Amino acid sequence: MRMRGRTQTTMALRCGSVRLNALVSVRALYKCSSFGVRSFADNASPQRVASSSPDTAVNHLLYTPEHFALKESLRKIIDQEINPYVDQWEAEGTFPAHKIFKILGNAGFLGVNKPVEYGGLGLDYSYSVAVSEELGHIRCGGIPMAIGVQTDMTTPALARFGSAELKKEFLLPSILGDKVACLGVSEVGAGSDVSNIKTKAVRKGDEYVINGGKMWTTSGTQADWMCLLANTSDGPPHRNKSLICLPMNLPGVHIARKIDKLGMWSSDTAQVFFEDVRVPCANVIGQEGMGFTYQMLQFQEERLWAVANILTTMDNIIQDTIEYTRQRKIFNQPVLYHQAVHFRLAELQTEVELLRALLYQATALYIKGNDVTKLASMAKLKGGRLAREVSDGCLQYWGGMGFTSDVQVSRFYRDARLMSIGAGADEVMLGIICKYMDMLPKK
Ligand SMILES: Cc1cc2nc3c(=O)[nH]c(=O)nc-3n(C[C@H](O)[C@H](O)[C@H](O)COP(=O)(O)OP(=O)(O)OC[C@H]3O[C@@H](n4cnc5c(N)ncnc54)[C@H](O)[C@@H]3O)c2cc1C
Repeated sequence: MRMRGRTQTTMALRCGSVRLNALVSVRALYKCSSFGVRSFADNASPQRVASSSPDTAVNHLLYTPEHFALKESLRKIIDQEINPYVDQWEAEGTFPAHKIFKILGNAGFLGVNKPVEYGGLGLDYSYSVAVSEELGHIRCGGIPMAIGVQTDMTTPALARFGSAELKKEFLLPSILGDKVACLGVSEVGAGSDVSNIKTKAVRKGDEYVINGGKMWTTSGTQADWMCLLANTSDGPPHRNKSLICLPMNLPGVHIARKIDKLGMWSSDTAQVFFEDVRVPCANVIGQEGMGFTYQMLQFQEERLWAVANILTTMDNIIQDTIEYTRQRKIFNQPVLYHQAVHFRLAELQTEVELLRALLYQATALYIKGNDVTKLASMAKLKGGRLAREVSDGCLQYWGGMGFTSDVQVSRFYRDARLMSIGAGADEVMLGIICKYMDMLPKK
């Protein structure tokens, strides 16, 4: 039997605060017990030293003990429930999103900065950044990306502008891990130029009839709903679009194919078509015609999230490379002891630290309510370029081993390439930065 709205919301509220207390108390456990979460995490995931980011709150610019408690608790799930199966899911070209999201949702990780009344933890965006950083310990890019789509790419606009009814139907179950979400922005003919999308939602009475299609839809083969960007009128391209919550089981929604990709294998990517799909007009997020603006706002969180995530991966790959080259000998000494090698790794780690500083600056300004579009775009641009440098630079020092599927560095090499393309290509980031620097030719 369907629960009445108020009861469901009250339960979510209670769940949210119980989970927050549980997470915060992890810290207490760490302090008072040698058998607490901390000792487990130490056994499961030895601390590594490449990053100079402090691993306690004492010297951290952004994180409190609660951030670290959250990270430790998430690390346990990653080590127990995700990493042991990553190779299998990479080989299968998909992962069980419903199962994994339910585990993460139960523990509170799918809505750390979302409202408590919809199952979130009600924390600020720095906690989302902390979660994303920790998800970088998953030993592939595909699963963190699908989690990020759920938490920071499909739901920010819904949480901010959606009606109470929509939030109950789509946000609450997404945060609790009961529904998998996907984002329908890109199309076959429009990726970088979002304003040029062709999918139309034509109003008929109190319903929209949707025709068109979406390309590159992460989690598209298993999602329960899509945060869809569609043209809802013929007006100017920045004012004629709306974000619509679209259940994926409606008649007329066709999953045309699962796309074969260079990397991100464990994340399924779909092409989707819509043929006379009928959805209530009440499923529009916020105001009709504001979809383009909402999506541009939503992109800010997506970009900060992506940078936080890849920072950890870069730390880990550099550290893996240090460890491998320290034990691999060439010309009678470890590969690492050749100056060209250790100097290069030091330089790459320096670049990673610079990017981390930019991310923390952007995050600190964002949680104070500032517009961080320029800084987020700079971080995303640099993140993409640096990930390519780190993956290529590190892989080189593994020699032939780096060219095999047996090592993490080759997976990172394939997965990280997306960072300069997805969520706005490098050139799109440069365009935004130029606009904020007032350098673009006047029309
Ligand atoms: C694995 C994967 C998952 C994805 N997941 C999603 C998803 O869940 N939802 C979703 O909506 N989309 C998703 N995307 C789409 C992604 O956001 C787009 O691929 C991206 O925005 C680029 O669009 P495009 O592929 O159409 O490239 P195009 O728009 O065709 O651009 C091609 C190239 O042109 C160059 N370029 C772009 N603009 C300029 C410019 N102003 N000046 C000079 N050069 C320029 C860039 O180098 C760019 O790479 C995903 C993509 C991939 C590959």
